[in-house]
Amino acid sequence: MIKYRLECSSGHEFESWFRASADFDSQSLAGEIACPFCGSIDIEKQPMAPSIVTKAAVASRSAGPAAMQSGDSKATLEALRAIKKTVFENTEDVGPRFADEARKMHFGEIEERQIRGSSTLEEARELVDDGVPFGILPALPEDLN
Ligand SMILES: [Zn+2]
Repeated sequence: MIKYRLECSSGHEFESWFRASADFDSQSLAGEIACPFCGSIDIEKQPMAPSIVTKAAVASRSAGPAAMQSGDSKATLEALRAIKKTVFENTEDVGPRFADEARKMHFGEIEERQIRGSSTLEEARELVDDGVPFGILPALPEDLN
């Protein structure tokens, strides 16, 4: 799995996981990658810094029509489940306080730690505006039950 930093034509940045670099190209061409903030499918891949560690992960369920591409194979689902499990095991669930906590950490008001939680689309937009780094976890079929 490869994590790419992506940017839409309106300048929203987000991250998404792909099985291989070729997957980004084929899914992007097919219009299957949409910006979670504005829904644009005009997405470009950004150069990845070697050591980006996502401080915070936000569940995509409340963050809009996020990163789950159609046509995912079972193998991809399994890989995404594994990623999600890792995130869940290594982060503190702050629930709906996610945006607040992430922002305070970013601006040094509280000590940095690994958190996950949920945010509204509006909160996610504000985090992007403020330059607060966070990742979006793709929604899995079982999350939507
Ligand atoms: Zn966008």
